[in-house]
This record gives sequence, structure tokens and C-alpha cells, in this order.
Amino acid sequence: HNELNQALQSDEVWYSFELFPPKTERGRENLRIKLNQLAELEPLIVDITWGAGGSSNTTSLRICKRAQQLHGLNTMLHLTCVSMTREELKQVLQSAKEKGIQNILALRGDIPKGGKKVDNGLNHAVDLVKFIRSLHEDYFGICVAGYPEVHEEAESPEKDLFYLKQKVDAGADMIISQMFFDPKIFLDFKNKCREIGIKCPIIPGIMPIMSYSGFTRMTKFTTVNVPKEITEELEKIKDDKIKVIDFGVNTCVKMCKELIKEGVEGIHIYCLNQFRPVERIIKGLSLRSSRYRRPYPWRRSTIQKRRG
Ligand code: FAD
Repeated sequence: HNELNQALQSDEVWYSFELFPPKTERGRENLRIKLNQLAELEPLIVDITWGAGGSSNTTSLRICKRAQQLHGLNTMLHLTCVSMTREELKQVLQSAKEKGIQNILALRGDIPKGGKKVDNGLNHAVDLVKFIRSLHEDYFGICVAGYPEVHEEAESPEKDLFYLKQKVDAGADMIISQMFFDPKIFLDFKNKCREIGIKCPIIPGIMPIMSYSGFTRMTKFTTVNVPKEITEELEKIKDDKIKVIDFGVNTCVKMCKELIKEGVEGIHIYCLNQFRPVERIIKGLSLRSSRYRRPYPWRRSTIQKRRG
């Protein structure tokens, strides 16, 4: 108990790891190995993404269960509402509860190609936050997504922030950001959130560059701004896989150091089901195990306790 209390009182930066459900048997085998290794780094939480198309959803639940039962990790299940009926959402939440999952990242998701909206469904993440709270009160810790560079469908940057605040007011405990590659963009976003009265933790989502092709593919589909220094350096080394990984790790460590200096409470790493680069980042930042920060340092009760 002492150890746990000490950790909750401490201002040490914690880290969480995001993984995705693999589609192939080879991918599943890889994830079993990587999860085992990642667990050794003792993250505060491991979260598993959710396919808005529905194909891998039982896998997401299964991975969460495995991470908890086999590795003793605390987990967060991503859940999208846009193409699911209320009854389906209710069943997933019940199943998550039965599996001991205590945190949900409540998302709208994108309607998959060929998919359609469901009748009487939930249209925005805020509706899902309300839905979860109405069914399960405070049982789940709820996180929501925030966009430092504004969500692509937003009516305006101000409206995007306004809706983000609605999600928090509806009961979300914490915001995790979309990836970005310029710390200043995240810090400006965080300030703007504070200006409109968002008080909960706002955690940077960090995407380490792990391969040239993966990185260019990912950034092409989003509106994320990549600083010129990064693109120029990557172009020079793009044919050398090892150099790209080294560069990705170093860039990530540099960026996180800057964010930690500016007072972020935690770092959320999009691990892409990899281990080595993630390990190097955690070691490069000299971050200590987040294990004893469990279960939820962002929950209101815990935050109140920390503030004494
Ligand atoms: P919302 O908060 O509903 O916002 C969507 C858009 O609608 C925004 O433009 C917003 O300004 C606007 N809006 C919000 N509320 C209202 C309202 N009440 N009235 C009118 N307009 C409104 N996708 C997946 O499919 N699976 C995942 O596991 C997944 N994980 C993610 C994790 C993180 C950390 C992030 C940042 C994103 C993730 N996504 C995931 C992507 C996400 O589903 C998409 O970005 C989606 O387009 C928006 O989801 P949202 O929850 O932010 O939506």
C-alpha cells in the first residue's frame, strides 16, 4: 500500500502503450511475443484499438483479457460507436466489464467504406461517453481523442475544441492526442484547451517513426504537419532501415523530453506492435516503471487525492 500511495503522490511521468489487433496468425504470434516484452517495461496501461468495421473486435477484447490475466497489466479498450447499434455497444461494455477491463477510449470512429450508419445509433464520441456513464456510472475510466491539428471534418478549430470540451463535460477523465511531430503544436493545443476550461489531463500521443514507408503512408493520410528537418533527414537515410529506426527513436526521445519539461503527466506511445524501439525510447527518457501508478492516476478520485 505504501508503495502504491507513494507512486500516486509522485509527479513522475507515466507511459502507456497502444497496440492493434493483428489480422493474421503470424501477426497474432508476433503480438504475443511483443506483449510479453512490453509488459516487462511495466507501462501504466496497455490499450488495444478497435476496428470501426467490426472485423477484429473480439480480438481486441481477447488481447485486453490476455494482457490483464497473463501479464497483470491494466488495460484500456478502444471503442467506436459510429457503426454499432446501442445493443451491440451495451454487449461490448458488459463483456469488457466481465473481463475486468476498467478503461474505455470512447471514439466515434469512421464509417468504413461500404458501411452505413445504424438507425438510432450514436453519432459522436460525446454520445458514447454519455452512454457509458449512463449504463456503468463510474465503473470505467473514460478517455477521449483530441486533435492538436484539428480533426479533418471539424467545422472550425474553435468548434473542434468546443466539442472536445463537451466530451470532457459529459464524463471523460482524460484526453489522448492524435499524433504530431512538432511539440509546439501539442503545447499550443493544450493551452487552448485550458483557456476554454478543460481541466483533465491531456496526454500527447507519440508515434515513433519505425520505417520510412510506414511513416510516409501514415502521414499522407492525415493532416499532420511534419517539420522540414524530419522530412529532409528521412529522405537522406530512407534506404537504410537501421538508420531510420535510430532516427525515429532519437527524434521521439527529443520530442518527449521537451514535452516532459513542459509538464505533461504521461506519454502515450503508438507502439505499432513493436518492442525494441519502444524500449529504447523509455530507456532514453529514463522513465521508471509506471506499474505502481495503477489503476488510474487520471481518475477524478485519484486526482483529488493527489491534490490532497
Ligand atoms: P468525435 O469527437 O465525435 O468528433 C468527430 C468530428 O465531429 C470532429 O470533427 C468534431 O469536431 C465533430 N463533432 C464532435 N462532436 C460533435 C457534435 N456533438 N456535433 C457536431 N459535430 C461534432 N479509430 C478507430 O476506428 N479505432 C480506434 O481504435 C481508434 N483509436 C484512436 C485513438 C486516438 C488516440 C485517436 C486520436 C484517434 C483514434 N481513432 C480510432 C480515430 C478516430 O476514430 C477518428 O479520428 C474519428 O474520425 C473521430 O473520432 P472522435 O472520437 O474524435 O470523434
